[in-house]
Amino acid sequence: MLTDQLKRAVEQRRDALISLTQSLIQIPTINPPGDRYLDICEYLADRLSSTGFKIEMIRAEGALADSSAHPRWNVLARYEGARPGPCLHFNSHHDVVETGHGWTKDPFGGALEDGRIYGRGACDMKGGLAASIIAAEALIAAAEEAGLELPGSIEISATADEESGGYGGVAYLAEKGYFSPERVQHVIIPEPLNKDRICLGHRGVWWAEIETKGRIAHGSMPFLGTCAVRHMGAVLAEIETHLLPLLASKTTAMPVVPEGAKQSTLNINSIHGGEAEPEDGYTGFPSPCVPDRCRIIIDRRFLIEESLDDVKAEISALMERVRSQRPDFDYEIKPLHEVQPSMTDQDAPVVVAVGAAIQQVLGQQPDFVVSPGTYDQKHIDRIGKLKNCIAYGPGILELAHQPDEWVGVEDMIQSAQVMAIAAAQLLGLDPERPSSL
Ligand SMILES: [Zn+2]
Repeated sequence: MLTDQLKRAVEQRRDALISLTQSLIQIPTINPPGDRYLDICEYLADRLSSTGFKIEMIRAEGALADSSAHPRWNVLARYEGARPGPCLHFNSHHDVVETGHGWTKDPFGGALEDGRIYGRGACDMKGGLAASIIAAEALIAAAEEAGLELPGSIEISATADEESGGYGGVAYLAEKGYFSPERVQHVIIPEPLNKDRICLGHRGVWWAEIETKGRIAHGSMPFLGTCAVRHMGAVLAEIETHLLPLLASKTTAMPVVPEGAKQSTLNINSIHGGEAEPEDGYTGFPSPCVPDRCRIIIDRRFLIEESLDDVKAEISALMERVRSQRPDFDYEIKPLHEVQPSMTDQDAPVVVAVGAAIQQVLGQQPDFVVSPGTYDQKHIDRIGKLKNCIAYGPGILELAHQPDEWVGVEDMIQSAQVMAIAAAQLLGLDPERPSSL
C-alpha cells in the first residue's frame, strides 16, 4: 500500500530530518527584534530548490516591524505535480522567542541526546517545519518510485513574526493573495500541538487599555486631589467580584485545552499608576503626589459563542457601574488588538484526512482541540478567507517558550508520516491503493 511506502520513505529520511532540524535551530531567528530572517529563508530556499521546489522570497515591505536593519523575510516553496489538482500548503513560522534564563543546553546548538533535539524553537516550531519538509519530500519520492503521477501541488512556507502577531509574515502573504481559496485549498500549520491532536482553531482575543483619571495634588493633602489608583482599585474589585465569576460560568462547544481555558478568561497584563519608575536611578521614593492616572492592560480571551461586541459591552457596563458608585470617577477605554475566534469544522477535508492518517500511523483516533491562544490561522481565516485549515505537528505544547525546549525525533518521524499520508489523500492519491512495487 502507498501508506506503507510513505511510512518507509519518511523513516529512511530519519538522519536528514535530524540534521535539518539541527540546522534550523542553529540559525537564531530571535523575535523581537527579528534576527537572521534572510539567512533562514535562504537556507530553506537552497534546501527545497534542490528537491524540485520553485522558490519565492517575499519581504513584507512596509509591514509592522519591517526595517532595513531587520527586514521581514518569508520564503514560499512550491512543488508542481504532474497534473492539475488541489494545492496543499504547509505553513510554519521561522521566528523563535528569546531564550530567557534557566538553560542547561546551548539554546542554538541543536544537541541530539536520547532521542531529543534541544534548542530554542526545537518544539515551537522548527521541528514541525522540518517534519513537513521531510513529509513532502517523502511523498514526492514515493509517488515517483511507485510510478504515480502526483496531482496538484505542495507548498511549504516559512514565515516571519508569528511570535509577534504575524503581520510581517502570514498576514502579509494573505493580504497579497497567497492564501486565497482559489490558490490554496488545504492548509496545515505544524505548530506543536502533540502528534495525536488536531487543532481546529483558537479562542478570540480582545486587548484594551483602561485608564482611570484623577486630579494631582500634594500627597500630604490627598483630599484636595482625586486618586486614580483608588479609582482603579474599585475597577479591580468589580472585576474580581462580578466579572471573573461571570466569565468562569460561560461554557463552550469549543474543545479548548487545557481544561482551564474552556471558558472565557481575563488577564490583567500590567498595571501602572502614579509617578513613572525610571529604568535608571530608581530609588523607590516617588515624590508625594496624588496619582492622576492609572492604567491597566486587559487581555480578554473569548469563546465562539460570544461576540466581540458583547465582550466590549461587558467592560463598558462594568466601568459605568463603577462610575455610578464613585464621585469624580472618570475613565477611558482604548482598544488595542482584536482577533475573532476561529474553528474549522470537524468534517472539513483537511481534518478528515489528517484524522485518518493519525489512525494509520498511531493506531488511535485523534483528539480534537482548540488552542487557548491564537496563531497564524487567524490571518488565513480572516484575511485569506480560507476555512480548511488546522494546526497539526510534533512537539509538546507545554515545552514551547520554556528553557531546555526540545522535540522528540520519534514524534517528528510519526507526525511526518501522518503529514505525508494526509497529503497523498488531499492531493487525490489513494493511500490505501495497493503498491505497484
Ligand atoms: Zn509557534
